[in-house]
Amino acid sequence: METVAPFKEVIDEIKEAGGDIFKLCFQCGLCDVVCPWNRVRPFSMRKLIREAAFGLTEIDGEDLWRCTTCGTCPQQCPRGVRQIDVSVALRRVATEYEVFPASVRSARSARASIISEGNPLQGERGKRADWAKDLPVKPYEEGMEILYFVGCYLSYDPRMKKVAVATAEILNKAGVKFGILGSKENCCGESIRKIGSEEVFRNLARENIKAFIDNGVRRILVSSPHCYHTFKNEYPEFMVNFEVVHMTQYLEELIREGRIEIKGSYDKKVTYHDPCYLGRHNQIFDQPRDVLRAIAGLELVEMADSRKQSLCCGGGGGRIWMDTPIGERFSDLRLKQAGDTGARVLATACPYCITNFEESRLNLEYEETLEIKDITEIVRDVI
Ligand code: SF4
Ligand code: SF4
Repeated sequence: METVAPFKEVIDEIKEAGGDIFKLCFQCGLCDVVCPWNRVRPFSMRKLIREAAFGLTEIDGEDLWRCTTCGTCPQQCPRGVRQIDVSVALRRVATEYEVFPASVRSARSARASIISEGNPLQGERGKRADWAKDLPVKPYEEGMEILYFVGCYLSYDPRMKKVAVATAEILNKAGVKFGILGSKENCCGESIRKIGSEEVFRNLARENIKAFIDNGVRRILVSSPHCYHTFKNEYPEFMVNFEVVHMTQYLEELIREGRIEIKGSYDKKVTYHDPCYLGRHNQIFDQPRDVLRAIAGLELVEMADSRKQSLCCGGGGGRIWMDTPIGERFSDLRLKQAGDTGARVLATACPYCITNFEESRLNLEYEETLEIKDITEIVRDVI
C-alpha cells in the first residue's frame, strides 16, 4: 500500500479545490451516517477527510474513488465541508500520478474515448447523430427556438437512443423549431471532471462553448442532469451563460402552454426516482412529478427515499464507468424500494440512472414485474 506522508501535493490540491474548508470538519461522522455506501459496505468520508487534512491519503486505495458525488452528505454537514470537492481533489492527484486501482481502470478507457472521439462509449465521432438519421431532425441553425444537446449516452447507447428518438418525436409534435449539433457536439465533461481529469474537462467545455457561440445558440435543451449541471453551474467559470433547460422542465412548459396535449391514458402505478444531479444538486423535484401527474390514469407513488433523500443509483462521480461488484450496487437497493411500492414502472430522467436500473432489473430478474422508463418515453406514448 502506497502511503504518502506528508504529501504536499494532496494538501495543495485540496486547498486549491476547496480552500481550507475541509479543516472545518470536526469529525462528527454525520456524512458516514447518510452515505449510501454504508448500506452496502463500510466507507468513511469522515476518515478520508481526516487523512487528507494530514496528507496521509492512500492514493492507490479504492476509497478515493467511491464517492458518487450524490450530494447527500454535503446537505447534512453541520460545518459546510465540501466533501465532493475534497474527493475530486484527491482524484486529481491520483490521476496526475497515474495511480489507479483495478476497479477504476475501465474509467481510463472512457477517458481515452472522450479524448479521441468526444464520448466515453467508444462511439465514432462521425456517427454521433446516427440515432436521428431516419427522423425529421435538422442541424441547428441560428434563429431556431432551442438547441437539443443530445449527450453521449442518448447518442450512442442502444437503450438510451430510444429516449433521444422519443424526445425528437415530442418536439416535432409540439412544433418546436429545434436542431442538433451532430458531430460538433462533445461530451459535456461533467463526469470526467469528477474523476479528476480537469484538463480534459476544460478542453471539452471550450469546444462546446465555441460550438454554441459559432452557431448562435441561446437556449439549450438537455436530457441528462449531468449536462444540465455542468452547463448551468460549471460552464459559467468560462465567463459564459446559456439558458439551459432539462427535458422534464421543458415537458412541463410544453404541457402548460398547450403545445402538447395529453390524449391517451397510462393506466399504471408509477414511482419516480429523483436523479442526484436533477434533484439534490439542482432542486428540480416538482416539474418531473407535475408532468407525471398530468397524465390520465397514471398513479404516482413515492419510494421510501425520495426528493432530497433520494437514493443515488450509483452512477455519478464517474462511477458509471467503474466496476461495482454485485452486492454493492445502490441501484439494486433502489429497485427493491421501487418494488415495495407496488409500482409497475420506475420512471426517471437520467441516462446513468436508466443504465444502472436496467442492469439491476436483469440481475434481480425483475423483467416481469418492473419497467424502467424515462419520463420522455411515457409522455411520447400518451400524446
Ligand atoms: S458531516 Fe461534516 S463535520 Fe461531520 S464528519 Fe462529515 S465532513 Fe466532518
Ligand atoms: S457525496 Fe454521496 S457518495 Fe459521496 S461521500 Fe457524500 S453521501 Fe457518500
